[in-house]
Amino acid sequence: SKGAGRGCFHIFEHGMTMEASHRSTIELELMQAIAQDEFVLHYQPIIRTQEERISGYEALIRWNHPRRGLLSPDQFIPAAEEAGFIVELDRWVLKQACAEMANRDDELSISVNISALGLLRQDLPEFVRTTLADTGLTPGRLELEITETSRVSEAACLATLSQIRNMGVGIAIDDFGTGFASLSYLIDLPVTRIKLDRRFISGIVDSPRCLNIVSSALALARCLDIDVTAEGIENLQQFELLKAAGCKSVQGYFFGKPQRLDAMVPHHQSHGFN
Ligand code: C2E
Ligand code: CA
Ligand code: CA
Ligand code: CA
Repeated sequence: SKGAGRGCFHIFEHGMTMEASHRSTIELELMQAIAQDEFVLHYQPIIRTQEERISGYEALIRWNHPRRGLLSPDQFIPAAEEAGFIVELDRWVLKQACAEMANRDDELSISVNISALGLLRQDLPEFVRTTLADTGLTPGRLELEITETSRVSEAACLATLSQIRNMGVGIAIDDFGTGFASLSYLIDLPVTRIKLDRRFISGIVDSPRCLNIVSSALALARCLDIDVTAEGIENLQQFELLKAAGCKSVQGYFFGKPQRLDAMVPHHQSHGFN
């Protein structure tokens, strides 16, 4: 399509610029931050609705900046994407998250965000394979969260995602329903989960329209045999509505904010969510 073509050209052009010119200040700063171990992962629990138990965690990056303090992804991910450095950053996260999770004596899953730029790299499957082998994490415990974007056509990432899926790794569409090609992604891509964006969830208590959208998404996913996680649950009413609508997996501040893994109560000792 015209949109996809434009996206590819943009990335190609961007790559050329990066090679031709010197590295940007932000890229140097990010490289240095990796070298100096300034990035940390916070983990947010994902809850199985029925048992109200933790099924896994989503890894969310923070930058422990020496001068500016703890920075949230919104404060540096856009710049990392702009510089193309997001690919390396995501791989650092993947490695770190797999290593940290493999070290725990539970079988919980780990979800890692992969930027669209990284999906265009043909060596991503090999990187995932090596990471799993090096850390000893079972492939079935890993899930990659990808965000729909106009910059990546389905065709461009189909082969890569299929190889990763064939290893047994899960593929989740993040922020489902807010992106560029939500439904068409489901035609060909080996999607195992959709994550319903907080925008829909925050409205379900007051807006019948929101609840209808969520119910329809749940029905669609059921038909396609795809799992669903609802994001951004902040209160009991939202949780009750989602449970009644048949949503099997939930995530949000109501169950736990992202925090260091070593600050988490071990799974078998936890009696509540926090
Ligand atoms: P996301 O993947 O949609 O992650 C969910 C975001 O919503 C997280 O923000 C999380 O802390 C926040 N959140 C979770 N539950 C609630 C809730 O109940 N209420 C509210 N208001 N917010 C909630 P965070 O950690 O600031 O991350 C923001 C975004 O940055 C992420 O959105 C993701 O797109 C991106 N990101 C984070 N880590 C990475 C990474 O390692 N790689 C890439 N490429 N992107 C990342
Ligand atoms: Ca995510
Ligand atoms: Ca999300
Ligand atoms: Ca998001």
